[in-house]
Amino acid sequence: MSNLLPSIEALPDRSVRLGALEVHRVLPVRGRRMIGPWCFFDRFGPLQFEAEKPMDVGPHPHIGLQTVTWLLSGEIVHNDSLGSECLVKPGQLSLMTAGRGIAHTEETPTRNSGWLDGVQFWVALPDSSRWLPPQYQCTPALPSQRYRGGEATAILGAFGEAVSPGHQFSPGVGVEIRVEPRSGLELPLDPSFEYGAMLVDGDVTVFDVPAERNTLYYLGASRGELGLRSTNGARLLLIGGPPFGEQILMWWNFVARTPEEILAARQAWENRELAADVPRYQGPRLEAPPFIGRPIG
Ligand code: MN
Repeated sequence: MSNLLPSIEALPDRSVRLGALEVHRVLPVRGRRMIGPWCFFDRFGPLQFEAEKPMDVGPHPHIGLQTVTWLLSGEIVHNDSLGSECLVKPGQLSLMTAGRGIAHTEETPTRNSGWLDGVQFWVALPDSSRWLPPQYQCTPALPSQRYRGGEATAILGAFGEAVSPGHQFSPGVGVEIRVEPRSGLELPLDPSFEYGAMLVDGDVTVFDVPAERNTLYYLGASRGELGLRSTNGARLLLIGGPPFGEQILMWWNFVARTPEEILAARQAWENRELAADVPRYQGPRLEAPPFIGRPIG
């Protein structure tokens, strides 16, 4: 057996509209639906705005997943049907565990910096946890570990010595990595995890492959380290985990297993039985699209 490593697969994003906002969808894309438990990855921004409100997503439900919102600049207000409210800023984790059902809103606050840049990931809940009651966490700054040539911040899960306080139900990790200018950075990986990396800002080579922004580089599994190099400095996001052992069905904002579960959740949302109303949001709730049995992606 040789020590041949998997080749790196470049998966370009596709453009999606979220209300007035143009979003780069990084996952799911053609050729890849999940990386470990991570089943959805959107980048919004960077953009600068004046009077208008770039993010304004009215009340909508989720089941069977966790949403992980991570800002690179600007701010978002989260409100949900549990009554949680958080003004999310860069460096803070906004983690919503939908479990059996929750509704939330995400909007640019009236007082804002005029900038917006960030990502939202979804993590599929394993069968053993997907019917739990919903919960929401908004954390202050997350733990980082310094390395020679850079730094890694654990958004969710553990990376080196850095352990995120976010509640985790599916094994895996989400990390923000900074590479210093004119530096190389070697980071430890778990060979039992598959990983994907995306350049957010700056320039970087991933194992000597020059990375494009908003393209997901699928690294496969069996790797013990990640080799990065930058000329002017870089910021990347890395997601990984053991290959998710369950077949999921994603439709609209739901992660389920069968069309019957999707239909039941859709009906419960239409009947106003899936979650309570979201307080403090001025505007209509989002209607579910017709279910024609076709999953998203
Ligand atoms: Mn949502």
